[in-house]
Amino acid sequence: MNTAAPTNASLRMHLDRVLFTEAQIAERLDEMAEAITQEFEGETLTVVALMHGGLFFVADLLRRVDLPLRVECLSVASYHGGTQSSGRVTFLQNNLPKVAGQNVLVVDDILDTGRTLHAITHRLVENGAPEKMQIGVLLDKNVKRAHEVDLDYSGFEIGNDFVVGYGLDYRGLYRNLPCIGVLKREYIGLPEA
Ligand code: 5GP
Ligand code: MG
Repeated sequence: MNTAAPTNASLRMHLDRVLFTEAQIAERLDEMAEAITQEFEGETLTVVALMHGGLFFVADLLRRVDLPLRVECLSVASYHGGTQSSGRVTFLQNNLPKVAGQNVLVVDDILDTGRTLHAITHRLVENGAPEKMQIGVLLDKNVKRAHEVDLDYSGFEIGNDFVVGYGLDYRGLYRNLPCIGVLKREYIGLPEA
């Protein structure tokens, strides 16, 4: 066993502060799921989930949604390993899900510059117009957007801090922290272990 590998509990110590606990997130997801269930009552929903950041959020949210639904996953990269959006949105697969004529909910972990959700919603529509398309994120960063994005569901508003946990990573780590928090500055920009 590699005894140098950090445990999840020790990664928790890398946080400067916790913004949202597991219990606070769960409570907010109940409310968001209720709103989604009401919005699409009597319909079938296609959820387009953005990976990997949206992994935990989408899994916990959708188990609370009382609708028949399909899940499609999309992988895009915009941070390319740093803590600032690179300005480039790279689609990591060739085929986008076909959502023409469907009720679509695009779900991402966090809205920052808006480039990711702007690019994805436009690419999905180019591929065939959905009947209805809504957007939901867990976190809405209070920053100047490169592209305006109209959110239909938003879990929490946050300031302009780089956050990790509950799906959000820094260099691939911290995703499995059950809470969301701000990383201590000393852990940002360190070379990969
Ligand atoms: P946008 O394209 O809106 O600038 O950025 C959206 C993507 O950037 C999110 O899907 C997420 O992957 C990443 N991102 C933005 N802010 C943060 C943050 O504070 N922490 C982490 N870990 N990722 C972020
Ligand atoms: Mg993301």
